[in-house]
Amino acid sequence: MRAAVCREVRQIAIEELDEPTPGDGEIKLRMVATGVCRTDLSIFQGHLPVPRPIVLGHEGVGIVEAVGTGVTRFSPGDSVVCSIIAGCGDCFQCRRHSSALCENVTFYTGKMLDGTTRLSKGDEAIHSLSFQASFAEKAIVPERSAVRVRKDAPLDKLAGLACGVSTGLGAAMVRDPVEPGASVVVIGTGGVGLSVLMGAKLRGAAKLIAVDVNPTKLEKALAMGLATETIDASQQDVVSVVRSLTDGRGADHAFDVVGSAGTLEQAVEAVRPGGHVVLIGLAAAEVGTELQTSALLRQKTLTGTMGGSIEPRRHIPEFVDLFLAGRLDLAGLMDKSYRLEEIGQALEDLEEGRVTRGVICFDD
Ligand SMILES: [Zn+2]
Ligand SMILES: [Zn+2]
Repeated sequence: MRAAVCREVRQIAIEELDEPTPGDGEIKLRMVATGVCRTDLSIFQGHLPVPRPIVLGHEGVGIVEAVGTGVTRFSPGDSVVCSIIAGCGDCFQCRRHSSALCENVTFYTGKMLDGTTRLSKGDEAIHSLSFQASFAEKAIVPERSAVRVRKDAPLDKLAGLACGVSTGLGAAMVRDPVEPGASVVVIGTGGVGLSVLMGAKLRGAAKLIAVDVNPTKLEKALAMGLATETIDASQQDVVSVVRSLTDGRGADHAFDVVGSAGTLEQAVEAVRPGGHVVLIGLAAAEVGTELQTSALLRQKTLTGTMGGSIEPRRHIPEFVDLFLAGRLDLAGLMDKSYRLEEIGQALEDLEEGRVTRGVICFDD
């Protein structure tokens, strides 16, 4: 099978790998599409350490081609969205419906859940990103991170639900459910930020304030009807504009999708006393912060989310239903599709801010 293999930082090329076989509790998918996420880019750029050679890609959707031993919930032909959340189902966190915090799953090891690799090229072991390695024609994924979805859903439109789009929707709908009539600030309006706005709008937020330094992204938020106000953070003071838009008080919710030095402080200052701040983005492996502790005395709540804190098997089918009912414009989030051979271009377009969400489509 063909796969995009990353052997060095800033190097990715199509190679012919061995046809993979699903292990115990795993399914084999013929990929239909996969999103290209900022995390793939961060690894490509060398900002997140992973073992190489590795096949990146973690926003895969596909059709079940074969199932391994012990698989009970899937059969060949099923439509699947692969979630980045692969809870074991049995640990302290999973039993509390916090699969995103599963104590038995470690990301970025390049290994499957049993600690071995599943991809190979002759004698050489090839690693898989996030138990998916979706930049390949076939993928082996654990049954427990796979979500079966309605057969009438166009799979290529659902790629983002594996990671970025679910993270954004989940932040505003699950982690910190926005109330009807609320005011919401979203710092960083790429694919995840637009998804936060989409979730907040769906929940009935009255004021949707989009913040970015890229005017094109702000225009897209307006064009999609996902922002009622925009702030260009390269030209305007975010905190004072948010206050002026919220009766001088500050917003009810702020979501920091950027996660670079200074953005979290901005989010905390932009919410009213008693307001909520959710950190979603992480611009580098380690980002420090200098928060004014008085914010906490003003009863502001500060938290974060992994993957939108969703329970994939419950929430992803709900998101699909909302999409098919015309209430979530998942298709509108995607602005460019590529073939697998164009993966280098897709990563470059994302890096240069030329696309919001790129999708690789596998055509046969
Ligand atoms: Zn991702
Ligand atoms: Zn667990």
